[in-house]
Amino acid sequence: MYKRSQNDNGTYNTQCLHCFITVASAVQTPEELEWVEKHHLCPEKALSNLLIQENARAPHSHHHR
Ligand SMILES: [Zn+2]
Repeated sequence: MYKRSQNDNGTYNTQCLHCFITVASAVQTPEELEWVEKHHLCPEKALSNLLIQENARAPHSHHHR
C-alpha cells in the first residue's frame, strides 16, 4: 500500500503506508514509481513477517526431556 502524490513539475512521490517512509520522491515516470514500490524493503512488513515466523516455529516453548 503506497500513497502517491504528484508535484507541480509533474514528478511523483510515493510513501509506504506501512512504515510511512517516503520510498521515492521526484520520480519521473509511473513505471519508475512502480519499480521503487516493488523494491521497497518495508521494515514494518519485515517485522510482522518475523513475528509470524517466530509464532509458527515455537507454538510451545517448553520441551520435556
Ligand atoms: Zn514500508
